[in-house]
Amino acid sequence: MQPKSNIVHLPVYEPGKPMEEVKRELGLTEVTKLASNENPFGCSPKAKEAIVHELQHTSLYPDGASVELAAAVANHLGVNTDQLIFGAGSDEVILMIARAFFVSGDETIMATHTFPQYKHNAEIEGAVSVEIPLKEGKHDLPGMLERITERTKVIWICNPNNPTGTIVTLEELESFMKEVPERVLVVLDEAYCEYITDSEYPDGLAFLSRYPNILLLRTFSKIYGLASLRIGYGVGHPKVIRYINQVREPFNTTRFAQAGAKAAIEDQSFIQFCREENAKGLQFLQSEFQRLGLDAYPAYGNFVMVNTGRDAEKVFNSLLSKGIIVRGGHKLNFPASIRVTIGSQEQNEKFINALEVSLAELTIEV
Ligand SMILES: *Cc1c(COP(=O)(O)O)cnc(C)c1O
Repeated sequence: MQPKSNIVHLPVYEPGKPMEEVKRELGLTEVTKLASNENPFGCSPKAKEAIVHELQHTSLYPDGASVELAAAVANHLGVNTDQLIFGAGSDEVILMIARAFFVSGDETIMATHTFPQYKHNAEIEGAVSVEIPLKEGKHDLPGMLERITERTKVIWICNPNNPTGTIVTLEELESFMKEVPERVLVVLDEAYCEYITDSEYPDGLAFLSRYPNILLLRTFSKIYGLASLRIGYGVGHPKVIRYINQVREPFNTTRFAQAGAKAAIEDQSFIQFCREENAKGLQFLQSEFQRLGLDAYPAYGNFVMVNTGRDAEKVFNSLLSKGIIVRGGHKLNFPASIRVTIGSQEQNEKFINALEVSLAELTIEV
């Protein structure tokens, strides 16, 4: 058989370990998963009600255009519905962008190390990824500008960056956007924006009216707590949205996802609660890391990348044996770091207690 030559070398995505598997393998009854930046408080009770209500329609196709959800999101963001595109997670919006924009030989610019789906989907379409190393964990925007050529189609900016958690500031984004030619699409991935209240953090929405070549990515998987439903969206100029719509599968998001997401975005008091709890958790983790003498990147979303000063795989395994699942930096090119999701206070305390024991068990080597 003859698959595309540009896909044969691609790895199959390796997710964090499922909780059930960890419990079985290690004979643990209780496991705390802080590996995938999921919401420890679940989702709004109103979203659950909406999903249950939708069960009576399981035999019906969903509304391909997500009209009701689009109206609710447009209303919440203050944009028009023709500025929105929905996908099975923002992962699928990334896929659709790649599908709509790249032909073989095109160039696309992104950071190393950042969210892997940009490069992955670009490669599938035969585009060449131009990777600009992070500087102290942050996007090097001037470095990215320098690498724009006639063949550049898309630039990806992950804000805050996954896995480091650092942000591009309002000022940095302003000076960057002024220099990017209008023929180049800038994708600003704001998967964690609802967590952030820092005044230096730019709200991508404020850029939309001035820059038709900017597309925001947002998701219901993180603060909205609906990762299992697979629903995310893009916000941009109607022309860009139309291009992406042209490659969209007819029924790419489910009735359950649309109904759950609509109820979720209409319940902002739940989101406010999650944002406040997360801020408390972040403060707790930062002060505990300081007490333990560990350096962490400045964090803004619901996860922190912390340098353990030890082999990341060993720290990962040691934590795992104590029933704590984090994301090991050895899988992300940060050999001494772990990325941990901010959990509930109880989860955060369990993590810190386990980490303290793990650190004492392992020798400092990196
Ligand atoms: C989690 C995440 C996403 C998307 O997740 P979906 O579940 O596909 O919506 C996108 N970008 C970043 C940076 C993420 O961390």
